[in-house]
Amino acid sequence: MLETAPRPSAITPTVDFDAKGVQHGHLRLPYSRDDSAWGSVMIPICVVANGDGPTALLTGANHGDEYEGPAALFELAQTLDPTQVKGRIIIVPALNYPAFRAGTRTSPIDRGNLNRSFPGRPDGTVTEKIADYVARQLIPFADIVLDFHSGGKTLDFLPYAAAHELPDKLQEARCFQAVAAFSAPYSMKMLEIDAVGMLDTTAEEMGKVFVTTELGGAGTASARSIDIARRGTGNLLRHAGILKGAPDVRPTRWLDMPSSDCFTFAEDDGLIAFACNLGDPVNEGDVIARVYPLGKTGIAPISYAAAIDGVLAARHVPGLIKAGDCLSVIATVTEPP
Ligand SMILES: [Zn+2]
Repeated sequence: MLETAPRPSAITPTVDFDAKGVQHGHLRLPYSRDDSAWGSVMIPICVVANGDGPTALLTGANHGDEYEGPAALFELAQTLDPTQVKGRIIIVPALNYPAFRAGTRTSPIDRGNLNRSFPGRPDGTVTEKIADYVARQLIPFADIVLDFHSGGKTLDFLPYAAAHELPDKLQEARCFQAVAAFSAPYSMKMLEIDAVGMLDTTAEEMGKVFVTTELGGAGTASARSIDIARRGTGNLLRHAGILKGAPDVRPTRWLDMPSSDCFTFAEDDGLIAFACNLGDPVNEGDVIARVYPLGKTGIAPISYAAAIDGVLAARHVPGLIKAGDCLSVIATVTEPP
């Protein structure tokens, strides 16, 4: 029987993943276009390796308008002392680099949402080619994968690290131990609206210890949220035995997203008036927000109520909302797993 070998990745790395020391380079992805006939997308990458030990893959800007990951990872790449490393750290601070440069969630080249494009295609769009490289080349190197997210320009989150419930309970326990080690102010047992096509799912299906985050949002990052990302990265690398030194452990509050009742979606366009702040406790039936119709006075707002008891874990930004947008996420307070 004739077997077709999988097509090789379109991406060429300029770093040697087997070399020791610190390397700064690129993942070069050919992208022929009007202003550059034989041009490439140049995705920054740093590899730091020393001695024998596990490999961590750290990625930011999977969505281009989320900034804690890039801020913490560009800093780490610039400051990491290889003598403090035992193993290998692969840092890609701006994974969907075209989206990162445009300050948009999705790629300006093909509108590709990288975290809905996995496992990708070697002969697909630019975004699908990035996903394919991550899935077939980078994740297989890794023992532990940390993929940073926050709310981007349309959501704002309580700062949390998260893992998912998994069919393999041993793997699930190792993921939640890594979340606890990250030591964000909140730790989440996370439910996805749609897990298909995510880096998360790809790494988890390959048996990796996987941690993600939602560290804020609103299209920016604060000193506080960047500090959480910086400390969490160091803590996770120490937990994995890759970085020397003592972790900086802080109290964390465990949250759960037990069902789709966590999510509230707007049914009409309008102006949002939130009735509670991120982190506030809410009871089932409490009004989370009122949405006023635009363009005319004298019309009652639509009130959106909490479907469950919990705390407000995410809210829509900015102040106007469209039908179908996610208005809020309520998470329940729970015990550590
Ligand atoms: Zn994201």
